[in-house]
Amino acid sequence: MGRVFNFSAGPAMMPLPVLEEIAKEVVDYRGCGMSVMEMSHRSKIYQQIIDEAEADLRDLMKIPDNYKVLFVQGGATLEFAMIPMNLMKNGVADYIVTGAWSKKAASEAKKYGKVNIVASSEDRNYSYIPDCSDLPIDDDADYVYICENETIHGTTYNKLPNTKGKVLVADQSSMFLSKPVNVSDYGLIYGGVQKNVGPAGLAIVIIREDLIREDLPAFVPTYCRFDTHANNGSMYNTPNCWAIYVCGKVFKYLKSLGGLEAMDKINKEKAAILYDYLDSSKLFKGTVDKEFRSLMNVPFVTGDADKDAAVVAATKAAGFDNLKGHRSVGGLRASIYNAMPIEGVKALVDFLKKYEDENA
Ligand SMILES: *Cc1c(COP(=O)(O)O)cnc(C)c1O
Repeated sequence: MGRVFNFSAGPAMMPLPVLEEIAKEVVDYRGCGMSVMEMSHRSKIYQQIIDEAEADLRDLMKIPDNYKVLFVQGGATLEFAMIPMNLMKNGVADYIVTGAWSKKAASEAKKYGKVNIVASSEDRNYSYIPDCSDLPIDDDADYVYICENETIHGTTYNKLPNTKGKVLVADQSSMFLSKPVNVSDYGLIYGGVQKNVGPAGLAIVIIREDLIREDLPAFVPTYCRFDTHANNGSMYNTPNCWAIYVCGKVFKYLKSLGGLEAMDKINKEKAAILYDYLDSSKLFKGTVDKEFRSLMNVPFVTGDADKDAAVVAATKAAGFDNLKGHRSVGGLRASIYNAMPIEGVKALVDFLKKYEDENA
């Protein structure tokens, strides 16, 4: 059986050339007689893998020298706790809640301090991004938190919030490396890599050095301190060696395609094909206000749960996988991350058009 067009929200499609390169190296990495899976993380050869991965990521994102790059286990979810544990100095943070992931992050942060929800789009099931130009930012807020691309609801910011001088923290899990970002606009950017980059079980944290504190409460677990990772080159303990290796391959692959400007162009083109069809369709409609539509996650519905289920079954039978929408939105969701080829989106749209004609 060949490969399917996999529209999963995560873990998600990987670039085929990267998978093929890994397959070649999986038994014997470059003549060293062992797999990367079997290697000591303290070996010279592994040190080179992690160093190159970091250097290529810095290059891709143009990360300034005063930011550290940390490879941390526990996925994005552990960051929901690590961020407040490490950054809450005054014990206060302002959260903008635009969907399931920022809501989870806010409730986790409440365990460690005072959390103000300064804006929310819950009133319309998170189908838009609220106006963030003049928020009631707390004078004592240690940071302002956003989820920049809400994977489940399919929304994204087209303008960063006005934090009134406070540090901006962003969960970029489902948009990581999908477009250029100006790292200096943020105090901390992080993402679980299994949406747009690599295998699950790894978060990449990009943090401004002056935010890495040593004077933390004693309860903070050693592993959960940013300084633990920063002072030990992300190798205080055994890191997720395999995931870091695969991410490194993807960084090189993205560079070969022309970097993040090129990805942005391709991603806009891909998303436009799908959104243009949805806007012209009589059967389907997108669930998000146009100006806040994600380029990565595209939820759409027929308005009838039974019809939705029939379409999902038909897409699966036709070789398009994982198009069932999240239960909180219903309908369908196409996740079209970096690794989804434009042919996959075109083929899906052709299929949906045909389905619509036949079921009119
Ligand atoms: C998937 C996802 C998470 C959770 O990631 P885990 O690695 O499973 O912990 C958090 N935030 C966003 C935006 C996500 O898409």
